Amino acid sequence: MIIVTHEVRNQPPPLENFNAYSSDSVLQEAVAREGAAWIAERAEAFGARIGSREVLHWGELANEYVPRLRTHDRFGHRIDEVEYHPAYHQLMRLGIEAGLSSLAWTEQRRGAHTARAALFYMAAQAEAGTNCPITMTHAVVPSLRLQADVAAEWLPRVFAARYDERFLPAANKRGVVLGMAMTEKQGGSDVRSNSTTAKRLDGDTFELTGHKWFCSAPMCDAFLTLAQAAGGLTCFLVPRFRPDGTRNPLYVQRLKDKLGNRSNASSEIEYADTWAQRIGEEGRGVRTIIQMVHHTRLDCAMGSAGAMRMAVRQAVHHCSHREAFGKLLTAQPLMQNVLADIALEAEAATMLVMRLARAFDDSGRDASAKSFARVVTPVAKYWVCKRAPTQIAEALECLGGAGYVEESIMPRLYRDAPVNSIWEGSGNVQCLDVLRALHTHPDSLDALVDELGATRRADRRLDAAVAQLQQDLRATSELEARARRVVEKMALTLQASLLLQHAPSPVADAFCASRLDAHWGNEYGTLPSSTDFDAIISRARP
Ligand SMILES: Cc1cc2nc3c(=O)[nH]c(=O)nc-3n(C[C@H](O)[C@H](O)[C@H](O)COP(=O)(O)OP(=O)(O)OC[C@H]3O[C@@H](n4cnc5c(N)ncnc54)[C@H](O)[C@@H]3O)c2cc1C
Repeated sequence: MIIVTHEVRNQPPPLENFNAYSSDSVLQEAVAREGAAWIAERAEAFGARIGSREVLHWGELANEYVPRLRTHDRFGHRIDEVEYHPAYHQLMRLGIEAGLSSLAWTEQRRGAHTARAALFYMAAQAEAGTNCPITMTHAVVPSLRLQADVAAEWLPRVFAARYDERFLPAANKRGVVLGMAMTEKQGGSDVRSNSTTAKRLDGDTFELTGHKWFCSAPMCDAFLTLAQAAGGLTCFLVPRFRPDGTRNPLYVQRLKDKLGNRSNASSEIEYADTWAQRIGEEGRGVRTIIQMVHHTRLDCAMGSAGAMRMAVRQAVHHCSHREAFGKLLTAQPLMQNVLADIALEAEAATMLVMRLARAFDDSGRDASAKSFARVVTPVAKYWVCKRAPTQIAEALECLGGAGYVEESIMPRLYRDAPVNSIWEGSGNVQCLDVLRALHTHPDSLDALVDELGATRRADRRLDAAVAQLQQDLRATSELEARARRVVEKMALTLQASLLLQHAPSPVADAFCASRLDAHWGNEYGTLPSSTDFDAIISRARP
C-alpha cells in the first residue's frame, strides 16, 4: 500500500544539466581578458559535460565507493594494486582527454596555461579527488624536461592526452599518469630530511631504498621522488615497471583513511632496491622537483577557487527556490548579505587565479611575468586555499539542514577543501616562501608593485592598504612572525586591484569596503548594508 501523507513543496529542483562555463560570466570574462578566448568553444562543451547529471553522479560514486588496496593476489604474490570504482576512471578519462594534463604544453597558442586553468577550474566543481593525479601529470613536465632522454621517452605519453587505466608497462599504454613522492615520516615540509637512499647502478640509473609517508594516486605509471645519492638529495623518476617489463618493487603498505579527498587513494609506500632514473643534476633534487611544485601550487589555488564557485552556485540556486517566513530566501536582506559575501569571495578568488595563470603563460618571454608568478603563486596558494573551507561552510549553511546531507554535494565540497592548503606546502610554508621570493628575487616585489600601480588613486581604501603593505615589508624586524598578515595583505590588495579594473563597481566597492576595512566583520554576511547585493549575486546565479 502506498501511503501519501503530504505534498512535497518548497524544495528546489536539483541543480544539474547546467553549463559550468556559459553560466559563469566571471570565468568567461577572465578567459577572454587573460588571453585565452580561443578556448571558449571547448570550454563551453566541457562546461556542459561538467554540469551534466551524468558527470555529477560520477563524482558521487567515485567518493562513495572508495579505492581499495590489493597488496597480494590469491596465490600470495605481491601485486600492490589499487582498485577504483568505474566512475573514477570515467572522471579521469574526461579530464585527461579534455587536455587537463597536456594542453598547456601541446597547444602552441598564447594563453595555453590560462585556457587549461579554466577547464581545470570547472573540473574541480564536479569532483576534486581525480584532479590530484591529473595535476601531477600536467605539472611534471618542466621537471622531466631537465633530463632530455627521460623526457623524450615519457613526454609523448603525457602529451597523448589518453587515459589508459590498465596496469601495464608504460611503453604498452596509450597514455600515462604521473605522481610525486617526497614526504617521509620525519619530514614533509623539510624534504631535506629525506632518508631514502639512492645507489648508482650505472650511468643515470639507480636503486632506491626507503619509504614515503604520503604517495597519492599510487596507480600512477611513474613518480618523481627524492632520495639521497652520493652527491646529495636528488630527484628520480620511479616507474611501476622496470625496463625489462617486470614489476618494479614499490610496496604499497596501506592507504590513508582521510578526512576528504576520498576518491583519490593516498598511500604509504616502500622502496626496496627500486629501479629509478635520475632527473636533473645529482644533489639538486629540490631545485628539480620545485619546478613541478610551482605548477601544482597554481592548481591548488585554481581547484579551491573552482570549489568556491560550485559552493556559491549551490547556495544561490537553493535560496532562489526556497521560501521561509513567506518570502524567498534570496529576498531576505540578511541572506542577501551572506550570498553576496560568499559570491564576492569566489569572484575575487577566480580573478586572482586566472590573472596568475596568465603570468605562467607569459613567464617564458617576459621576465617581469616570471617574477610576478614567482611571488604571487604562494600568495594565491595561501590565501585562496585558506578561504575555501570557511566560504564553503557558509555556503553549506545557506541550504540549512539539507546542506549537511551527503546528497547535496556540500559535505563533500567541505571535506575536500582543507587539503589544498596542506599539500604542496602548507600555509606557513607558503608564507615563508613569499618572503624567500621577495628576498632572493627582488624583481618580484617590483612586479607586484607594478601590478598594483594599475589602480593607483582609483580607490583611497586600496591606496591606504598598499601604503600599509609597503610599510609592513620595509619593517624587517620579526617579518617571519608577521608573514601571514603580510601575505594576506598582498592577496587582498591584488584582488581589490583586479576587481576595481574588471568587475562591476558594486562588486569592487563591496570588496574594498569589507576586505580592506579594519572593521571588517569576522564572518560572512557582514558587508555594509548599503551594498548592492543583487548586483553581486546576479553574477553568481547558476
Ligand atoms: C591527502 C594528502 C595527500 C598527499 N599526497 C602527497 C603525495 O602524493 N606526495 C607527497 O610527497 N606528499 C603528499 N602529501 C604530503 C603533504 O605534502 C605534506 O603533508 C605537507 O607537505 C606537510 O608536510 P608534513 O605533513 O610533514 O608536515 P610538517 O612539515 O611537519 O609541517 C607541520 C606544520 O608545520 C608548519 N611548518 C613547517 N615548517 C615551518 C616553519 N619553518 N615555520 C612555521 N611553520 C612551519 C607547516 O605549515 C604545517 O602546518 C599528501 C598529504 C595529504 C594530506
